Amino acid sequence: MEIKRTLTTEPKAKPTGALGFGKIFTDHMFIMDYSTEMGWHDARIVPFGEISLSPASMVFHYGQEMFEGMKAYKTKDGRILLFRPEKNIERMNNTNVRMCIPQVDMKDVLTAIEELVLVDQDWIPTEPGTSLYIRPFIIATDPFLGVHPSHTYKFMIILSPVGAYYAGGLAPVKICVEDEYVRAVKGGTGYAKVGGNYAASLKGQEKAEEKGYAQVLWLDGIEHKYIDEVGAMNVFFVIGDKVVTPKLEGNILPGVTRDSVINYLTAKGYSVEERRISIDEVYEAGMNGELKEMFGTGTAAVISPVGLLDWHGKILNINNGEIGEIAQMLYDDITGIQFGEKKDDFGWSHEIKR
Ligand SMILES: *Cc1c(COP(=O)(O)O)cnc(C)c1O
Repeated sequence: MEIKRTLTTEPKAKPTGALGFGKIFTDHMFIMDYSTEMGWHDARIVPFGEISLSPASMVFHYGQEMFEGMKAYKTKDGRILLFRPEKNIERMNNTNVRMCIPQVDMKDVLTAIEELVLVDQDWIPTEPGTSLYIRPFIIATDPFLGVHPSHTYKFMIILSPVGAYYAGGLAPVKICVEDEYVRAVKGGTGYAKVGGNYAASLKGQEKAEEKGYAQVLWLDGIEHKYIDEVGAMNVFFVIGDKVVTPKLEGNILPGVTRDSVINYLTAKGYSVEERRISIDEVYEAGMNGELKEMFGTGTAAVISPVGLLDWHGKILNINNGEIGEIAQMLYDDITGIQFGEKKDDFGWSHEIKR
């Protein structure tokens, strides 16, 4: 794939001070177009800026779109690392199948990511814990109000320098268990990374925020009994000497961080179970002292310890609201690999060669 380049003549000033998450964008973006006749074509890196679309574009009406999320990390000796990018690109195509979006060439997508990150490499922040968030996405662009898969699409990648998720080190969050709204059901799009899942989650998230909680813990959409996941994170529980996480049954997102945690813990000799886990089991384990830790996993926070659950007013304190040993170890070791500071026994780091 040949990528045409048009570089900006007006580079923006680099941010100073706190970066936050997803608010600042770099100087360039990647775009390529799809049509039934030409397939994916016209790959280009252009200055970051507004795009023009028909108001009838299908993405605005029926939400045919998908996205991915990953990060580029700058090591202390100036190398640029991605973390298991092939997993994100593979998931991208799994999402595309579910959304009737054409497949992308895995090698081409990796090339596009690498070239764009290199063009904007000076935007990769270097303060501890900071990184460059990479957001590839595809939108349906046919100007048509009928319900049907589009024949034309735009694939884009934008980049955003992001701060350390926990400015003051790992901090446990308080989470509300949602027992009215659901985000996804088996047979739906829960396993696909699509905006529609998030649109469906906003109401529950708003409710949780009103009550002073950081996130929602979603239960299964049929019985409101089994644990699915948290907002944009998969969840793990340490119960007795076992680490338990919900099984991939079509309603939860197969997180790259989730997969890394399972592989890492298994290699370290922990017993990891992927199975259904009910909210009753979690509360019971909490009451009888068997529940040692709970944490979320995802690219943004990597590991997010949970210190408290509220399930229709029933409060469960977990590990006295403190960071668990396993959560801390996972955070240190996985971010250590991501930032090139710890030995990468798994071959997870992918260096972008200049
Ligand atoms: C992206 C995402 C995750 C986390 O996946 P990672 O690949 O680990 O970043 C978990 N749940 C949902 C709903 C997501 O969209």
